[in-house]
Amino acid sequence: MTRINEAISIRVDGDIGVILANHPPVNALSHVVREGLVHAVEALCADAAVKAIVLACEGRTFFAGADITEFGKPKREPSLQQAIKALETAPKPVVAAIHGTALGGGFEVALGCHFRVMVPTAKVGLPEITLGLFAGAGGTQRLPRLIGPEKALDYVLSGKPVNAAEAVAAGIVDAVIDDTPLDAGLRHARTIIDQNQPAIPVRNRTAKLAAAQADPGAFDARAQALAPKTFGPLAAAANIASVRRSFTLPLDEALAEDAKANAELMAGPQSRALRHLFFAEREAAKLPNLPADTRPREIARVAVVGAGTMGGGIAMSFAAAGLPVVLIDATREALDRGMDRIRANYASSVKRGSLSDARRNEQLALIQGTTDRKAAADVDLVVEAVFENMDVKVEIFRDLGAITRPGTILSSNTSALDVDAIAASCGRPQDFIGLHFFAPANVMKLLEVVKAAASSPETIATAMAVGRRIGKVPVLSGNCDGFIGNRILAKRSAAVERLLQQGALPQDIDRAMRGFGFPMGPLEINDMSGLDVGWSIRKRRGTPFPIADAICERGWFGQKTGRGYYLYEAGGRTPLPNPEVEALILDTSARLGIQRRPLSDEEIVERALYPLINEAARVVVEGIALRPSDVDVTFANGFGWPRWRGGPLFHADLVGLPKVVERLTAFRADTDDPSLEPAPLLRELAAAGTTFAEWQKART
Ligand code: NAD
Repeated sequence: MTRINEAISIRVDGDIGVILANHPPVNALSHVVREGLVHAVEALCADAAVKAIVLACEGRTFFAGADITEFGKPKREPSLQQAIKALETAPKPVVAAIHGTALGGGFEVALGCHFRVMVPTAKVGLPEITLGLFAGAGGTQRLPRLIGPEKALDYVLSGKPVNAAEAVAAGIVDAVIDDTPLDAGLRHARTIIDQNQPAIPVRNRTAKLAAAQADPGAFDARAQALAPKTFGPLAAAANIASVRRSFTLPLDEALAEDAKANAELMAGPQSRALRHLFFAEREAAKLPNLPADTRPREIARVAVVGAGTMGGGIAMSFAAAGLPVVLIDATREALDRGMDRIRANYASSVKRGSLSDARRNEQLALIQGTTDRKAAADVDLVVEAVFENMDVKVEIFRDLGAITRPGTILSSNTSALDVDAIAASCGRPQDFIGLHFFAPANVMKLLEVVKAAASSPETIATAMAVGRRIGKVPVLSGNCDGFIGNRILAKRSAAVERLLQQGALPQDIDRAMRGFGFPMGPLEINDMSGLDVGWSIRKRRGTPFPIADAICERGWFGQKTGRGYYLYEAGGRTPLPNPEVEALILDTSARLGIQRRPLSDEEIVERALYPLINEAARVVVEGIALRPSDVDVTFANGFGWPRWRGGPLFHADLVGLPKVVERLTAFRADTDDPSLEPAPLLRELAAAGTTFAEWQKART
């Protein structure tokens, strides 16, 4: 074995040259790796004994992708494009032996090789679009040459990883070989040498481009149909444009255009937003205030109390991660209803094709229903999701505290009750914590982990760890009314009610918010979830919303009653303008003495979102959220905030904090809502000409 540098070594096995990468933890394509690859290819090509070359990686994966920590830093040559070119132009056949996850740059390296083999568990893919980019080192040029531009769109626009079986069927790799990665590569190299197969680079395989060249309209139509909304308009358009270049430009020209286009995306707001969230989600997992030696407890069995809407979804989330769950309800009827709903949810996933029959059966078998609370005696974690009623919860936790073993984590899915008060009832408040899931709980990624005053470090660490284990994005929240998300969102709800009074109609507000990138407008969402929920909360808090309350007083609760802010045709879900509500809105404005005026979409967005940003600044200063980026993670994962807009505080930084302060000051002047007064932190940062991001960096 000869070391080329600290990451790359070579050796010769008879007539096969081997390049081995070892750059933990994931063999990211850092500068040292790229440089080593270039020298390794040179050395093996100069060795007359070598007839073919195998490129394999040690550790848990083939090159997992670009080195994301080099993003935004000055480029160091060789670039990834150059390193790949060295492999591609090697006169001897190079075989990429793929294991683990060869994503992005890793897959592009494999596409630069003349042959590709995968072990059965490996995956390949081009996830760049999820960071607002495209595969700028030739992925969007070489993949279309292998499988055709139309088919390449499927992978490029979804960003989804592809497993070995699909990859070989699609013609992305030459073989799937069940062996160690290196031996799989060596076996394929042997076949190539024995059959005297030539080293034909992927760049020269152009047959699959012919169909798109003959009918570019069909390509464009397919691209339109597949263009995702999630990652922002810029990245979708750039990915399509790049794949399009595969059949309109020679490869080197296309690569030069790609490099330019990707650099623009990288510097643009949408990719910056998506990358911000990528790092923010990792950051949210860090708990700087816990003692360094804190270890999460082992969670092997779970009980969920309450088999309603939330309890069922929560049970499914644990089962999906392979954890057995006992689902406990008070009565046989409620339990049966809950289990039926779970079965119906699974059935629709199987029907949609998102879950196999076998997986469904496995997961369903992990959920055991009972009406006997004592079934919680041998679990490690209890999640309570019964009615939102303090007396009911207190009674349950008093009992659970006695039934369960000491050390069992006790948690509540309460949306708004005081977690300290619930904690006090269980007898072991150090083991208690809030686990706030979002509906539908088996789908939504956000999990607010609500720290009660007495929650022990171990309890907090366990809750965060189990959240990640079931595929959620846990965010630690302090205890306050509404926790991080709903407390901040309440300011948007108040702003929306005000906009209705000031001159907007429901459809104006929803259009403006969808235009900003939310998948649904706030009033469509309210109609979908039921207006009675908010009404009862407002009554309890004594915070009337004249228009929303008047709609509820008529018994119009949204979709379930056929009318709310909108009209719904028999059983339908399409919101249609509701003339009666429009009249009610105009009447209310008149009654309140408000002169209605036209509001542009831009003004609607500012008036709806800046109060939310303002409250977020308070939440951060109070320590309810540990850091500004935690607010962004919360909104991107639980409240439909478009990921490509990075979250409320990233957005505020982008808009410029002085502008946000200036607008809030103006909004405050024409309402009597003191919460619109710009928050001290917001004022301070605006005056200092800095940002939430800088403020966060300075504190870590
Ligand atoms: P739900 O009414 O659908 O379900 C509650 C279930 O609890 C029912 O099946 C009921 O039979 C059962 N139950 C009542 N008392 C019980 C007892 N003593 N022992 C065992 N089971 C009992 O309610 P939901 O919408 O699922 O909400 C449950 C909790 O989750 C509430 O605290 C709510 O605030 C919270 N939450 C709800 C949402 C949401 O969008 N629905 C979102 C986040 C959190």
